[in-house]
Amino acid sequence: MDNVDNVDTMITMLTPTTSTSAIRTDRANTANTTITVRKAHKIRLHPTAEQEAYLRRACGTRRFIFNWGLAEWQRHYQAGEQPSALALKKLFNGLRGVEFPWTYDVTKCVVEGAFDDLGKAFANFFAKRAGYPQFKKKGRSQESFYLSNDKFTVGDQWVQVPVLGDFIVKQREAQGETVTKRAQLKRRLGKINLAEKLRFTVKTDKTSKILGATIRCEAGWWFLSVQVEVQIAQTPVEGPPIGIDLGFMRLATLSDDTRFENQKPLRHLLAQVRFLNQQLARRQKGSKNREKTKRKLSRLHFRIRCLREDLLHKIAHTITERYSFIGLETLNVRGMFQNRQHALSASDAAIGRLAHLIETKAQTHGTPVQRVGRFFPSTKRCHRCHHVREMAEDERTYVCFNPACGWVGDRDLNAALNILEEALRLSSLSA
Ligand SMILES: [Zn+2]
Repeated sequence: MDNVDNVDTMITMLTPTTSTSAIRTDRANTANTTITVRKAHKIRLHPTAEQEAYLRRACGTRRFIFNWGLAEWQRHYQAGEQPSALALKKLFNGLRGVEFPWTYDVTKCVVEGAFDDLGKAFANFFAKRAGYPQFKKKGRSQESFYLSNDKFTVGDQWVQVPVLGDFIVKQREAQGETVTKRAQLKRRLGKINLAEKLRFTVKTDKTSKILGATIRCEAGWWFLSVQVEVQIAQTPVEGPPIGIDLGFMRLATLSDDTRFENQKPLRHLLAQVRFLNQQLARRQKGSKNREKTKRKLSRLHFRIRCLREDLLHKIAHTITERYSFIGLETLNVRGMFQNRQHALSASDAAIGRLAHLIETKAQTHGTPVQRVGRFFPSTKRCHRCHHVREMAEDERTYVCFNPACGWVGDRDLNAALNILEEALRLSSLSA
């Protein structure tokens, strides 16, 4: 394999990529433009036991309302009606006082959020981006609830969660405690400790605004994820154009032969996952040790998710800081979804996520990202002579069958060079 890689690099050096200068001159026009981008900042929460009880209750209420909405949706649909999340929310709010008074224990954002999610789940289903919405199961689905921007406040070290203080005070009173200075106590108890300061917004800062937030439990830890809209000045990048091939074996291969591996950085952690899975299989069902292993496993998965996300950010950052034009394949996420009956695998998700991060980061530099259609034969075509041949899934080396050419090299590098050429062609057509 090493030999092939060496040949590969040499040949790339001999065949320089096309028309770099044409792109560079275009770039000057986009300087000093201000754009609005959405960012999210995820902060660890340190709730007290009383506060955690509220967070759990809010997640449970959200789960209940979502499931209620889904069941009603199905019932209305079967009765020949056309259900909508908005109509169901109205129906729910009408019944709430009599049938579900306990839902008043938590903020009404939970109701709003649950029906928003239901609407989105069906919109994704109708657009064939996702399967039919499923009922949420305790412990199995991700536990979270939404806060709308006018219902919470973020300070330096805390977030004020609506109805939280009230909830705790009522609980204390129900246990026979006499509460004095109610309002003051409610305010104090309603503030949950933040592990770090919110990065983007300052109250006096007019260039950014908070859109909303989600509180979520992952691997037994609580997080606040704040969505912010910020205005930023685009900073153009000097550099050559690049084509990117995204794949399962190697996450990204660039047309200048820069390579980003997928699993390698996480290899020893993935080995630990396998070990813990084996251990879990040996543990007795319902035993304490089994619970311990389960918790270890979920924390490990969480760590892997964080590292992967971090890795993807770094790759996207490296790419967008270095090149002034990006050619990218249009990903057939829908096709991938239909192929596998279940949810996207981690590497499927990584590919889509990386493409998304590259696009958003490129936007901050005003770097054009040109998508290449998914029927373009990037893998089958020889980038040097355009001869097309069939390629098996497991063929890692491209060998050109055209006797006049005979190029031999890395499969993904060939694809990246094809993507670059096609992307430059398409962008010159639209210019
Ligand atoms: Zn060829």
